[in-house]
Amino acid sequence: MVEERLVENYHENTIHGRHVPESIVVWDETLRDGEQMPGVHFSPEEKLRIAELLSEIGVGIVNAGIPVVSEEEAEAVHRLAHAGLRSKILAAARTVASDVDAVIRSGASHIAIFVAASQVHLRYKLKMTQEQVHAAALATVKQAKDAGLHVAFVTEDTVRAPFDFVERLYRGVQDAGADRLVVADTVGIMTPLTFRWYLEEFQRRVHPKDLSVHCHNDFGLATANTLTAVECGARAPQVCVNGLGERAGNASLEEVVLSLEALYGAKTGIRTDRLHELSRLVEETAGVPVAANKALVGYNAFSHEAGIHTHGILAHTLTYEPLQPEVVGRRRQMILGKHTGKSAIVEKLKERGLTAPDPILLELLSRVKRETEARSKEDLRRFLHHYRALYERPGLSDTDFWKMVEAVGLRPEKA
Ligand code: MN
Repeated sequence: MVEERLVENYHENTIHGRHVPESIVVWDETLRDGEQMPGVHFSPEEKLRIAELLSEIGVGIVNAGIPVVSEEEAEAVHRLAHAGLRSKILAAARTVASDVDAVIRSGASHIAIFVAASQVHLRYKLKMTQEQVHAAALATVKQAKDAGLHVAFVTEDTVRAPFDFVERLYRGVQDAGADRLVVADTVGIMTPLTFRWYLEEFQRRVHPKDLSVHCHNDFGLATANTLTAVECGARAPQVCVNGLGERAGNASLEEVVLSLEALYGAKTGIRTDRLHELSRLVEETAGVPVAANKALVGYNAFSHEAGIHTHGILAHTLTYEPLQPEVVGRRRQMILGKHTGKSAIVEKLKERGLTAPDPILLELLSRVKRETEARSKEDLRRFLHHYRALYERPGLSDTDFWKMVEAVGLRPEKA
């Protein structure tokens, strides 16, 4: 059934026996969901610098932010929309007329209109009935369409919402002109097989003209679920550079893109050889360090120390690397340490035109091991303590907050 739908909706691409839509559009959320990560803030200049690189490397859609958040945010969206980038600039709005107006004023060509759909969100957060949500969604989609925008409609917490409501709501907004429908796993509870079932059912019931997904990484499954969605025909997957985003983050741009390119043989239109540069720029701008063992962009993703591995890599890189580091703009690193073997020493000596007999090699090897085993971990510990201190209290300090409270004239009862 999935195959039939893919043939119907998209030109089929079956490289490696996996089915993916032919025209994949990467939809980046780094500047919106990524910025919503606790402690992260991008200035308009920083948003522009990141958007320029996203555009240069071939990202199709850049969510610049939510203009009603602040004046600075509105300015940032406006600047991105008028920067002449190749990426389509999208801005987000709640199902509120003034939010949509702010997006129209920003000059963005694309809008994502979002509202929650699950019972828990409607009852406790929005305090709205399904009827009210439905009416607000239809009205704002029409408003945005009348202004000539490309409209994506998103529900928060789609996958926990009653399916009958989801069906009625999405059919309604599509009939009202929405160009793209987005299914969100807002709290990251899908697994690949459950999500496959969900999206097949969604397609059977709603018949989306164009499908996108937004997956969170609460259980570390965001990339896997996003790939499943692409297999199900979602051609505009939402991603964040370095997997930034609320809580445990979103599906990571580099993981989704490289999986599609290398494992599925799909074309994403992304210059993958600049992904490391992009990762570094976002790491530095957001101030969120990339984990050393993060796929593709982590410091260790193409590093080898263990003797058996180094020996294999030196014989043929395919032994222990699924793809060449140059594909993401990186170089392979051979680390000399406790786990080093003789072949790494032989290779290292070659760099300066040296060869050595076995006893000398073994002597060098034991010196390398002794030296690195004896090395102090003090520097790393200091770094970690500093890092933890920064992260255990991000944002405004309590002291600064209570000073502000007094400055606006409130008098706290207790000190
Ligand atoms: Mn999100």
